[in-house]
Amino acid sequence: MDGSETAPPTLAVPSGLVREAVGPERTAVVWSHEPLDALLDALTAAGYLPVRLPPSETTVLVDVTGPPSLLLVAAETLDEPTLRTLDALRRSSRQTRVVLLAGPASASTHLLTALRAGLSEVVDPTDPDAVLASVLARADDAATGSRVLAIGAHPDDVEIGCGASLLRHRGLGHCVTVLTLSRGAVGGPHASRRQEAVNAAVSMGAELLLGDLEDTRLAESSELIGLIEQAVAMVDPTTVYVHSRHDNHQDHRAVHVAAVSAARLVPELLCYQSPSATNEFAPTKFVPVDDTIEAKVDVLARYRSQAGRPYLEPDLVVASARYWARQLAPRTRYAEPFEVLRSSGTSD
Ligand SMILES: [Zn+2]
Repeated sequence: MDGSETAPPTLAVPSGLVREAVGPERTAVVWSHEPLDALLDALTAAGYLPVRLPPSETTVLVDVTGPPSLLLVAAETLDEPTLRTLDALRRSSRQTRVVLLAGPASASTHLLTALRAGLSEVVDPTDPDAVLASVLARADDAATGSRVLAIGAHPDDVEIGCGASLLRHRGLGHCVTVLTLSRGAVGGPHASRRQEAVNAAVSMGAELLLGDLEDTRLAESSELIGLIEQAVAMVDPTTVYVHSRHDNHQDHRAVHVAAVSAARLVPELLCYQSPSATNEFAPTKFVPVDDTIEAKVDVLARYRSQAGRPYLEPDLVVASARYWARQLAPRTRYAEPFEVLRSSGTSD
């Protein structure tokens, strides 16, 4: 393949949105004693979150967010303890692609160590184009899987409406992006709600795109459809989750209408229930979430500034899921309900 013909990745974040967190599928961990600024810049331009972490902290990261898609290991870091950490990581994280960073001069010197560590790919860290070519090959692989975009008007809307289903997608290896269109200043301090949204996304292994539209006035925003259209173009989702139109909150209804228009070409479009949903909310799809309902409660606990709101009480969250599972009894105890605007016809 001629690398010069490789199109640049279309992962640029639309103006008006900020990428506040990335899922592990776009995390690139670098083990190196050198700063490697050009390499980190190239990874950032390709839509990755590159982080320089020592091996011990990488192990912590994997425990928290799941394995990164890319691990770039500088040859000179491969001492005995690092090799042991690498070995343990490779056993637990099969989806992580490990690439050895070694210049032409040192590649042969480190070849034996690299082979011993099971590394078959070697790229020159001073040649960001070569590293990008490697990254893009991975992005092509990822593009064949399911991609989920969950859209909400305010921080915590998505997590309440479909948090357990998003965690289920993550468990199936699907890429999950959360698009939250406002920072929810009306519901609490701006900075803390932003940080809570980041914490919640990280705990789900999801990418977070955060807009800054004025909440309670989304219906009057001419930017709304444009922002969602750009996010849809960026993520190219196979499934979109959004508010139901059966909702008393004007922001939720506005986001529903805008998303239906922006996601007109997406194969599957599902509408979740918010605490402000009306009695007209009439779900026909029930996603079993027995394995993820507890984790959903943990994710919602990240919204500390909202603690005390009745709809975030764990027993209500669990009881609601228990109620909706009646459609799937007796095999399933917990489910999240969705109105289906468009169905891809697959079970996942
Ligand atoms: Zn809301």
